[in-house]
Amino acid sequence: MTMPLMKPRRKNPVLRTRQMNLPPFARGRTALGMTAAAAEGRFELQMCQRCAAVQYPPRDACCRCLSAELKWTPQGGAGELISDTVLHHSNDPFYRERLPWRLGLVRLDAGPTVIVHLHGDVEKPPPWQGDTAARPSVPDEAASRPNALRVHVGARLDRAGAAVLIGFPPEESEHMADDTMLREMASDPKFRKILVTDGKTEVGQALVQALVKAGADIVWVGHAEPWKKLGGWDDITALPQVTLVPLDLTNGRSVAELAGEIGGKVDIVVNNAEVHRAFGIASRRGTDAAKAEMDINYFGLLRLAQEFGPALKARSADGATHAAAWVNLLSVYALSNYPPHGTFSASKAAAYSLAQCLRAEMRASGIRVVNVFPGPIDDEWNQNLPPPKVLPAALASAIVKALREGIEDVYPGEVAQEWLERWRDNPKVLERELAAGG
Ligand SMILES: [Zn+2]
Repeated sequence: MTMPLMKPRRKNPVLRTRQMNLPPFARGRTALGMTAAAAEGRFELQMCQRCAAVQYPPRDACCRCLSAELKWTPQGGAGELISDTVLHHSNDPFYRERLPWRLGLVRLDAGPTVIVHLHGDVEKPPPWQGDTAARPSVPDEAASRPNALRVHVGARLDRAGAAVLIGFPPEESEHMADDTMLREMASDPKFRKILVTDGKTEVGQALVQALVKAGADIVWVGHAEPWKKLGGWDDITALPQVTLVPLDLTNGRSVAELAGEIGGKVDIVVNNAEVHRAFGIASRRGTDAAKAEMDINYFGLLRLAQEFGPALKARSADGATHAAAWVNLLSVYALSNYPPHGTFSASKAAAYSLAQCLRAEMRASGIRVVNVFPGPIDDEWNQNLPPPKVLPAALASAIVKALREGIEDVYPGEVAQEWLERWRDNPKVLERELAAGG
């Protein structure tokens, strides 16, 4: 059983901060398909379109019939643990610092045998009784063997952002997320110190509530306009974990001052500050609204990343509550422009591109950049849109889930999921449909 994580002691500032080493991350182009699925929280393997054989490791031709028609297909992940081992030595610097490390071989019910990192709650597999050659090779037989140790395999991104497979016990247990191996893979908010850049919006307040509920140690809540009082604000400020901090993302000095004060302590940055005005090009004269959107949605992210990025990177190997993640609230309109919210879409597309750059720069230090692409949020700027809309609380819990499960790209809500599917299917068709009003 996983022991619950205790609140870590305060760091002795005189002690040396550990440098980050990444696990091996070289993957071929084909194998990156598994990473792309894991980035959205799915476990996928290639399946042959001719003979239905499931492939592992990823390859260019079917292992059974040599067909090149292999399609990435979601996997249930059920299987039998057939052996396990504990590493006590490794030549790789990342694993050497984290020994002992448990690995296993799992025969998936879908067919292939895969190598997995093993969760601490998975029991040791029972020794094989009888002739080794008599091991059942047909998955159904393995599943029906009475003393088979059943496990559930899931795909996660490791600290280098590459997909790895993890063997979980079939039943969830209370402190499962506190497993040391799992905490290395994810960015669980528990005991972490988090900056939420804008606490004045409905989404900001929902985020603060969700992060506190998830066990955050401190939540610094940015507010640009101290005179503005909103409903629900008092509930936020009353929380003992919450500290209000002045933060105006349009002002480089404000961002630099806050980074000077708390930059060295923040473990997770959640940048939810945004300006959203309806309309496209022709319905408004001048560029003031568009500039205001760019100034927060794009330049605000740039200012924040320049000030907080280096400190976050420096502390990414800092014990059980190392600096872990950077969350950007983007929009599904970043994928394809939605003309009724045209300038907002453009600012989010710019922010998305910058967030990809941030992700690449953060990768070397193992900080996960989580991009969130909600459809229309149920807030004051989307009042005229018909449902379905994402409720702020649902958006906040999707973000906490992504942090806990190490998901990199989040599309919360039905609209975002549907747009993503249409965009993947054919971006040009989606562009024409959106031009015609969705
Ligand atoms: Zn085949």
